[in-house]
Amino acid sequence: MDATGRVCPVVVVVEDNLDNMRLTCDLLRARGFEPVGAQTADQALRLVGELKPDLVLMDISLKGTSGLALTRELKADPTTRTIPIVAVSAYAMAQDEASAKEAGCDGFIAKPINTRTFADQLRSYLRRGTASEATDREEAGP
Ligand code: MN
Repeated sequence: MDATGRVCPVVVVVEDNLDNMRLTCDLLRARGFEPVGAQTADQALRLVGELKPDLVLMDISLKGTSGLALTRELKADPTTRTIPIVAVSAYAMAQDEASAKEAGCDGFIAKPINTRTFADQLRSYLRRGTASEATDREEAGP
């Protein structure tokens, strides 16, 4: 358990496609994360501000406000700027990754995601000393 009392790392999943959202959340739940879905940029802003999640999974191609604009907003706010943001893009192009990094994303994962490695990829982006440690201890327990 980390300082906030969380057992599982909380991940806000920003995704406007409901099927993708369900698949991603199911996968994360099965791998020991606590996913919270956001379908719009407004919803994502509110949830990230309230929950201060351990990570934000950001769909770059959102309707309305783009995932990149939302990333810039979160990284400009001192109360949310330390939360890692991992971009997910359907178009595995070098330019997308460059744009994501330029907007402030901490990581980039191309769709379709690899369900075998996805959780470990995300875990590597979690802030040090937070929920990732708790999960490691649980896995090492009797
Ligand atoms: Mn989308």
